[in-house]
Amino acid sequence: MFEKVLVANRGEIAVRIIRACKELNIRTVAVYSEVDANSMHVQMADEAICIGKAASSESYLRIDRIISAAEIADVDAIHPGYGFLSENSHFAEVCESCNIRFIGPSPRAMNALSDKAVSRALAKKAGVETPPGSEGTVDNEKDALANAKRIGYPVMIKAVAGGGGRGMRIAHNDISLVKGYHTARSEAEKCFGNSGVYIEKFIENPHHIEIQILGDNKGKIIHLGERDCSVQRRNQKLIEEAPSPLLEYKFKKLRDKIGKAAIRIAEAAHYTNAGTVEFIVDDQGNYYFLEVNKRIQVEHPVTEEVTGVDLVRAQLEIAMGEPLKYSQSDIQLKGHAIECRINAEDPFGDFRPSPGRIEMYYQPGGRGVRMDTHAYAGYTIPPTYDSMIGKLIVKGGDRRVAIDRMNRALNEFLITGIKTTISFQQAIMQDPNFRRGVYSTNFVEQLLGGARRELIEEKT
Ligand code: ADP
Ligand code: ADP
Ligand code: MG
Repeated sequence: MFEKVLVANRGEIAVRIIRACKELNIRTVAVYSEVDANSMHVQMADEAICIGKAASSESYLRIDRIISAAEIADVDAIHPGYGFLSENSHFAEVCESCNIRFIGPSPRAMNALSDKAVSRALAKKAGVETPPGSEGTVDNEKDALANAKRIGYPVMIKAVAGGGGRGMRIAHNDISLVKGYHTARSEAEKCFGNSGVYIEKFIENPHHIEIQILGDNKGKIIHLGERDCSVQRRNQKLIEEAPSPLLEYKFKKLRDKIGKAAIRIAEAAHYTNAGTVEFIVDDQGNYYFLEVNKRIQVEHPVTEEVTGVDLVRAQLEIAMGEPLKYSQSDIQLKGHAIECRINAEDPFGDFRPSPGRIEMYYQPGGRGVRMDTHAYAGYTIPPTYDSMIGKLIVKGGDRRVAIDRMNRALNEFLITGIKTTISFQQAIMQDPNFRRGVYSTNFVEQLLGGARRELIEEKT
């Protein structure tokens, strides 16, 4: 059993993890950067240790300082949350070598899925289709052009280390391919310290559908159904829901097929703990593997709401060596859940980040409403980290009820002092196509009037 866990993260996910620990009577240690001294996770944890300056390269990404903090506080385990060091297998190895349990997949599983090109190859071996693309990375212009010719335009140039929608470009011809190849590489180098890219067929009007999985240390792996995350801006998710309207209304048999495909990939990687297998699905119901997120995901609450499984608690239990409490047939989806990512951004100003002091803060409540956040009145959002300040999650008996409830909850929300995405998400709740459940990853682009493609495609 764990007595004490260090949370190597900040923001709402640190709060989420601390809450799960408290419910298991596990003591918690927060780490924080100088700018986060007044942050909610610092106030909620039993102990807190400052690990450096605001820049994440000086704090939340410093393995040496986090391990020192863990040793000083004498913890049994570290939960990495999402982002930061969560998918860094070197960090997981360092934890294990210091006799600190890493709450996540084993370093072996992480290495089997080390980057997107490696994961594509693994998926193919497991018999799961991927978008047509290059074998491994593409290392020069000539190679890029030859691959694009073979695959056929449009194609995407994608960073093997990519995440958060960064490091990818669409190309419709040779000229935009060469430009996109170089910009994707330099963006990838800047964001991920790895300039490796590969090329993949661009699937038109796809749906982003992902499968939540859980695996214990005895080799048992189950899936917990899907989340639809097709409401995206610049390949970044804004709204997520479970179950997916596409699978629920149009391709009923796909859930089981994609779920099984996700498990095959997880088994091939000897996956343990929580993970997400991402797919894109086209209008004909063809599905293609995208990547595995080897960590807890931002949008995990919608799965919790429709399955009743506490995923962060499950992560802790699995890391403590407990066998999975559920078998596949125990997982039944009930009702409908929707999440809105509340970002401190200006929806009327090209979604520019809007950090600063929150003056007034009143969050919605009532039946079927859950708010996962670290925000409060008087809290100053630093400009240093990403702009998500919380997640509003609602549950309803069916999709219509959930949408109406989300609309009501967004309407109740009061945040002053900063700009937020709330009004934009409210417009989506009222959009006829969203309400009908007929939307793909192009939805936000269409709503914003064709801005998306221009933003991510190199002008030729
Ligand atoms: P999810 O897949 O859980 O929806 P996102 O893609 O929105 O998550 O990423 C969650 C957080 O993790 C964001 O802060 C994002 O910037 C960060 N992140 C995701 N992948 C990476 C990565 N490979 N490197 C650095 N940060 C990442
Ligand atoms: P990240 O690591 O940034 O999450 P993903 O590979 O998961 O990157 O892709 C993020 C999003 O980009 C997808 O949800 C989808 O909207 C879009 N995308 C990625 N690959 C393709 C593709 N081959 N065709 C069409 N859209 C894609
Ligand atoms: Mg992804």
